[in-house]
Amino acid sequence: MTDGQLGRVTKVVIVGGGTAGWMTAAALSRLVPSGVSVTLVESEEIGTVGVGEATIPSLLDYNRMLGIDEDAFVRATGATFKLGIEFRDWARPGDSYLHPFGTHGRDVEGVSFHQLWLRQVALSNPDPGPIGDYCLSAVAARRGRFTRPSGNPQSILSSLFYAFHFDAALYATFLRDIAEQDGVVRVEGRVVAVDRDAETGFIQSVRLEGDRRIDGELFIDCSGFRSLLLGDALGVPFTSWKHWLPCDRAWAVPSARQGPLTPYTRATADTAGWRWRIPLQHRVGNGYVYSSAHIDDDDARRALLAGLEGQALGEPRQLRFEAGRRERLWDRNCVAIGLAGGFLEPLESTSIHLIQSGITRLMSLFPDMGFGATEIDAYNRVMLREYEQVRDFVILHYHATERSDSPFWDQCRTMSIPASLSAKLALWSGKARVFREQGELFTPDGWIAVLLGQGIRPSSIDPLAATLPPGESVRFMAHVRDMIDKTATAMPTHESFIAQHCASPLRQPA
Ligand SMILES: Cc1cc2nc3c(=O)[nH]c(=O)nc-3n(C[C@H](O)[C@H](O)[C@H](O)COP(=O)(O)OP(=O)(O)OC[C@H]3O[C@@H](n4cnc5c(N)ncnc54)[C@H](O)[C@@H]3O)c2cc1C
Repeated sequence: MTDGQLGRVTKVVIVGGGTAGWMTAAALSRLVPSGVSVTLVESEEIGTVGVGEATIPSLLDYNRMLGIDEDAFVRATGATFKLGIEFRDWARPGDSYLHPFGTHGRDVEGVSFHQLWLRQVALSNPDPGPIGDYCLSAVAARRGRFTRPSGNPQSILSSLFYAFHFDAALYATFLRDIAEQDGVVRVEGRVVAVDRDAETGFIQSVRLEGDRRIDGELFIDCSGFRSLLLGDALGVPFTSWKHWLPCDRAWAVPSARQGPLTPYTRATADTAGWRWRIPLQHRVGNGYVYSSAHIDDDDARRALLAGLEGQALGEPRQLRFEAGRRERLWDRNCVAIGLAGGFLEPLESTSIHLIQSGITRLMSLFPDMGFGATEIDAYNRVMLREYEQVRDFVILHYHATERSDSPFWDQCRTMSIPASLSAKLALWSGKARVFREQGELFTPDGWIAVLLGQGIRPSSIDPLAATLPPGESVRFMAHVRDMIDKTATAMPTHESFIAQHCASPLRQPA
């Protein structure tokens, strides 16, 4: 065995204390064997990006991996539950659909449920109604209801999936407490230089203001858009995806709560991008993500403020970014996690998931002092593929639109798209098939919700669906819809669920 001969990694240094830094620190402190020291350097003066409040269901796995009590986490971060995303005005102005977490109906004899639904739409009598009526998460979201799913696969409640909206700053503090209790050493200071081995180019230490030096063996770059280690020190180039994802700025501002807590994120398309609305227990997070080539900053700021439901709780803050990622996310003895590795804009709330994915894969490929190329290549291959799969899903929302009311939407509608997305669209446009590639984050149900929501109708359906007797499938669909309706009606409201189980001390009444 080579392990031990080459020597164990015993000193890990994380640069950056945003969501990426503290998620990584908390996971490493719980999961790496004893004898490995973890030091995190951050600079309060520089601060964090301070946004990143909507998540997807995979976060539950991270919380479980760390043994986090969910109610305690919800209370500490002012969180609410998220059953999906409502997309307003995306296919065309006035239109709305939900991308819910969870499944639509149930497959019958190997035929996917959406095929039955599409056949019924074509037959039209009786009208099956929207596909969302067959998804418990969608129906519960529309009615403002929430409960935790059942672990019993026979129960319709097992088809409910959820994630969270939370306060990013409070989440970082929550994780910091866990990490520090588990022995992570936090160092306050600004990194001003990086020392590298003259022969191998490996990072040996980071230098801080005041002539301090921190030595390490494995360095994790969580320095945000600056990408201090992977980008600046190691010179790994950035691949821009601006052609497909032209939004490059955002204004963000919190506002006062108005009305009941909705268990979903809202993404409303606007003339040069889109606006988010994320309900927390103590405030609502809002932002306008836009393309600076299509609207000027002041107009975007005004559009954000004009769309707020409640009173702004401060001045809007501007963020600048570019969609894309580094050519490699692991180079030599440095792994970039979070914004230091890449960014895909927040439309499907995937950044925190990509952080988590980076951590999980780093744990399963944890190096020894040999830093074997096989592990590094495997890490880069799977991570970069995941970034590209997420990229394609996000591009779909912009490209598959009928909007022609502004130069921004004209550009998105008519742009060329990646070959991998074209192949997905061709498969769907033919016989309504969605094929989940290995390791792909978004489920066929997610793709189906967005493809249908954005108005892309396939030209035919799976021939297997035509073999099921229509009368039987109509009865089956009516039964599913009825069960979902009754189950959602019996669920508590989102507001009352939170009040009963996990009300935050920060909570504000509507
Ligand atoms: C507009 C917008 C909206 C978003 N919304 C979502 C969302 O809804 N859901 C989601 O999953 N993600 C979202 N994201 C992404 C999310 O915010 C980030 O993935 C997440 O916050 C992680 O950021 P980070 O930790 O990589 O970087 P940062 O938060 O920028 O942290 C960087 C850290 O590095 C430190 N640092 C930098 N330079 C130095 C230095 N020289 N010395 C010492 N320390 C240094 C900083 O002090 C800081 O601690 C959004 C991003 C943007 C821009």
